[in-house]
Amino acid sequence: MKHLLHGAVAKTLPTVLQTRKKQRLSILTYHGILPGHDYMRPLEPTLATFDWHMELLSRYFNPLSLSEALSRMRYGELPERAVCITFDDGYANNVVQALPVLKRWRVPATVFIATNFLNGGRMWNDSVLEALRVVDDTKFDLQELGLDVYDIDGLHKRRVAAEAIIREIKHWPPEKRSQAVEMIESRVGSLPCDLMMTDQQVRELSENGVEIGAHTKSHPILSTLSQDESKQEILGSKTYLEALLGQKVRHFAYPNGRPGIDYSIEHRDMVEAAGFESAVSTHWGVASKTSDRWQLPRFTPWDQVPLSFMVRLLMNYQNPA
Ligand SMILES: [Zn+2]
Repeated sequence: MKHLLHGAVAKTLPTVLQTRKKQRLSILTYHGILPGHDYMRPLEPTLATFDWHMELLSRYFNPLSLSEALSRMRYGELPERAVCITFDDGYANNVVQALPVLKRWRVPATVFIATNFLNGGRMWNDSVLEALRVVDDTKFDLQELGLDVYDIDGLHKRRVAAEAIIREIKHWPPEKRSQAVEMIESRVGSLPCDLMMTDQQVRELSENGVEIGAHTKSHPILSTLSQDESKQEILGSKTYLEALLGQKVRHFAYPNGRPGIDYSIEHRDMVEAAGFESAVSTHWGVASKTSDRWQLPRFTPWDQVPLSFMVRLLMNYQNPA
């Protein structure tokens, strides 16, 4: 993209919208970056979209690694419009698609990895989504699971059905949910085993300056687990990644991430006790020195055009959590 924003607009906007409140940090959340539009994942940014996001951030904002940003925030040395880029879950496309773009625009990033899915694993929601993509039928009958008969005659309907199933089983007990997913998987042929990173890809990201953070082992909703299970999930992902990389893993992201719903204050304390220096939630807002370092808010502007993306991101600096 040659001209992201009209020159005069680009020059004026940050000044017009810049608050006098400095020392604020926007932390953006991404998951996957797709090579092109995917009818099953219409909200996931494509490579082209991600490229202009990073170009815009590198031109008009101040992207920092999470470690540097938090250290600067502590000492009151954050630049204006400070921003961090984070990715959740550990999708292989973070390496294949996103890494070259991050390097091109010299944007630091942090990737939070759910370690059980490395090396050929698949998250349950992706199993449902990919099954609905490939199932060779016009109807998908899940009445034996207490669900519906889904009309999947058309690309759009396949996505709607997948989203409906995911929404329904998301809050089922983990055991019941994995049985349901196994049953769904058994209805179709093989599903992709390369959606998530390999150990080697995690090392590659790290060697290219991307910070690696932990995101539990199996991506459970922590609030549904016992204390012991929660500790194992939190510590287990840290231990695995530290052994893999031979360095300290400093940051954590809560699965699903809604404070008080997906995790509680006890989990926040466990994360601090585990030796993490910070943790991010999915609560929307901008971080500041007064934010709880183990419950930092994040933000995702979903606008499809650069000007509104930029305005929304600038507005976020007015929204302290
Ligand atoms: Zn996640």
